Formats: sequence, structure tokens, C-alpha cells
Amino acid sequence: MIYIFCAPSGSGKSTMVHHLLTKHPNLFELSISCTTRAPRGQEVHGKEYYFISVDEFQQRIKNDEFIEYEQVYEGLYYGTLKEEIARIESAGRQVLFDVDVKGGVNLKRILGDRATSIFICPPSVEELRCRLEGRGDTSPEMIEKRLAKAEEELSYQKYFDRVVVNDDLHHAFEQLDGIIEENRDIRR
Ligand code: ADP
Ligand code: 5GP
Repeated sequence: MIYIFCAPSGSGKSTMVHHLLTKHPNLFELSISCTTRAPRGQEVHGKEYYFISVDEFQQRIKNDEFIEYEQVYEGLYYGTLKEEIARIESAGRQVLFDVDVKGGVNLKRILGDRATSIFICPPSVEELRCRLEGRGDTSPEMIEKRLAKAEEELSYQKYFDRVVVNDDLHHAFEQLDGIIEENRDIRR
């Protein structure tokens, strides 16, 4: 089973993915996307993202190397290489995707029953602002852009297999663990 995680920026998607990777280090691996944005803070090429130029990104689109890509923010491209899924599955692990909402809907359409799509929902847009400001790694201008996008993104939750509301962190982890267990029971 492949898991697709989507949420408006600041909802806690990375926190959820990190929880699963820590709890099941040999079961899951996070798909590393390509992006044309610059690295933030301590981010490293080949760990958080493959940081590539717009020219290289466009060349890879022409070569049909992406399973999915989006211009997530104006002028900034993000995409998943087909090769990335093959790399993780050949290592015997299940793929986790952390992609934007439209990318998630596209991936679910392409992957069908091979994937469970999970929407991480914030308790409110005000709380989203607090979390983004509290994280301290995003400029005030980018925070405004991300909040402006959040309203539209929230309207996509109906297209997802599951919705986890990330209000109390412990409760959200429990809901997520329940989804993973359910899928493992079905396959036993
Ligand atoms: P995303 O990956 O969706 O952009 P993050 O996982 O980076 O979001 O979370 C944004 C910020 O909110 C981080 O500083 C994180 O520690 C914090 N956070 C995540 N979940 C909760 C929660 N349930 N309650 C309070 N803060 C949270
Ligand atoms: P950030 O710049 O904060 O790392 O990511 C911005 C957004 O791009 C997040 O919503 C993230 O999930 C999304 N994203 C990362 N990789 C991909 C990808 O390969 N495809 C799509 N469609 N979105 C992605």
C-alpha cells in the first residue's frame, strides 16, 4: 500500500509523515520530490528534495520522467519521478507521498487501489497561521501566499479516502495508526 498525504501548508503533514517513519523505520520510505525552489534552512539535496534548475525540470518533463508534477506556487515546480517509486519498492518498502492537494488527487487517480489518500485537516485557518509563524522558517510573504491557498485546498478534502483532523497531536497520531492497522489487517 502506498500512502498519499496532503494538506494545506502548516496543517501538520510533515509531522504525521515523520511519526510513521519513526514508528516503522523498515516499513515506509518517503518519496523525495524534485523542486525548483531554493533549499530552506538545513535542507540537503537528495534528502528533503532533489533541488534542480527550471531548465532541468523542463527537460525531465519532456523526457516523461515524472509520474506527476505541479506548479504548486507561482514559478515553483514540484514533481515526483517515476524512478523514485521503483527505487523505494525495490528496497522492499512502502512509499509515502507528501504532495500538494492537486498532486495528491492526481496520484490517487493514477495509482487507484494501490494507494490510500489521506487529507490532514487543520482545526482552523487561524491555527494554520499560528503554526506557520511558529515554525519560523517561512517568510511573512510566503505565509500569506500559503494561507490564501489554504481555503481552496480545504475544499478538496472530499476527494480523499480518509480525513484526519490534526487538532490534538496525540489523537491525530492515533487516527493515523488506526488507518495503517486497518490496511495491514485487510492484507493479512
Ligand atoms: P506541514 O508539513 O503540513 O506544512 P508541519 O508538520 O511542518 O506542517 O507543522 C507545522 C507546524 O505546526 C510545526 O511547527 C509543527 O511542529 C506544528 N504542529 C503540528 N501538529 C500540531 C498540533 N497538533 N498542535 C500544535 N502544533 C502542531
Ligand atoms: P514546501 O515548499 O513547503 O516543501 O512544499 C510546498 C508544497 O509542495 C507542499 O504542499 C508539498 O506537499 C508539495 N509538494 C512536494 N513535492 C511535491 C510533488 O512531487 N508534487 C506535488 N504536486 N506537490 C509536491
